[in-house]
Amino acid sequence: PPADRYAVFGHPIGHTRSPCIHALFAEQTGERLNYTAQDVTPDAFETSVREFFANGGKGLNCTVPLKELAWKIADLRSEDAERSKAINTLALCQDGTIYGDNTDGIGLIRDLKINLGRTLESRRVLLLGAGGASRGIIGPLLEQGPSRVMIANRTPEKAVRLAEEFCGLGPITGCGLSDLGAEAFDLVLNATSASLTGELPKLPGNILRTGACCYDLAYGVEPTPFVRWGQEMGADISVDGIGMLVEQAAEAFFIWRGIRPDTAPVIDLLNRERRG
Ligand code: NDP
Repeated sequence: PPADRYAVFGHPIGHTRSPCIHALFAEQTGERLNYTAQDVTPDAFETSVREFFANGGKGLNCTVPLKELAWKIADLRSEDAERSKAINTLALCQDGTIYGDNTDGIGLIRDLKINLGRTLESRRVLLLGAGGASRGIIGPLLEQGPSRVMIANRTPEKAVRLAEEFCGLGPITGCGLSDLGAEAFDLVLNATSASLTGELPKLPGNILRTGACCYDLAYGVEPTPFVRWGQEMGADISVDGIGMLVEQAAEAFFIWRGIRPDTAPVIDLLNRERRG
């Protein structure tokens, strides 16, 4: 029989590493599957998803700007997906219904805890940005029991609203980037899209506690401006989101195939590749 088909939909999609990551997982686990990338605009999204599944496709990843639309299309959602109102993984169920999950949050937590050895319990966390990525990670972050999560955004109202939406889950508040400076943090997560245009969010210099970790959700061949900022400010570790990318993919692979691939060799390979 032909290999089961999977794909990532996004717009644009040219830069994606997901087909490569899933090909490595398939090789490692001996699973037979075919994973491709497709440029799909928001207008064509629903038709493309329905066609993909009608033609035998088994699972989809959805990336920018399609995660909110994926949430709408799912018949059944995980708890993480339900509350984040964004979905990055769709799976076709036996009865033909579509199940949706958001594996971004668990991907980030696994990278921080397992790969980087960071605990979040009783830590002070600063989350920069109040867009789709922040939405996906706030629930899983609060479940780790931090003593405080502060969301800071260029447009302050968006951070305040997002904090209000999630305040039932733990100690979270929102503010503007320009309100920062009075408090220092153990973990600073950059979930803005500033790195994608080579920019650094405007940050004061005194927001890192001793031994702090800086983590940019964005990733690239070169260290991002935020990763460099963290290094200059003396963070204990300052890394980008390649580990999260591989971990969220592994979680999607597990939803689809019921097997959890080993992520460490895949992260190593991607890191070696970009170092040349
Ligand atoms: P959105 O477009 O939904 O949100 C963008 C956010 O960034 C907004 O809060 C916006 O602020 C802020 N922002 C943009 N430019 C600047 C700037 N120059 N200075 C300060 N703030 C800025 O994007 P997403 O949330 O979907 O994505 C955010 C990042 O997360 C991307 O880099 C993406 O690649 C990454 N990501 C990585 C994943 C991984 O697996 N590693 C998974 C998911 C996302 P405002 O509201 O004021 O406009």
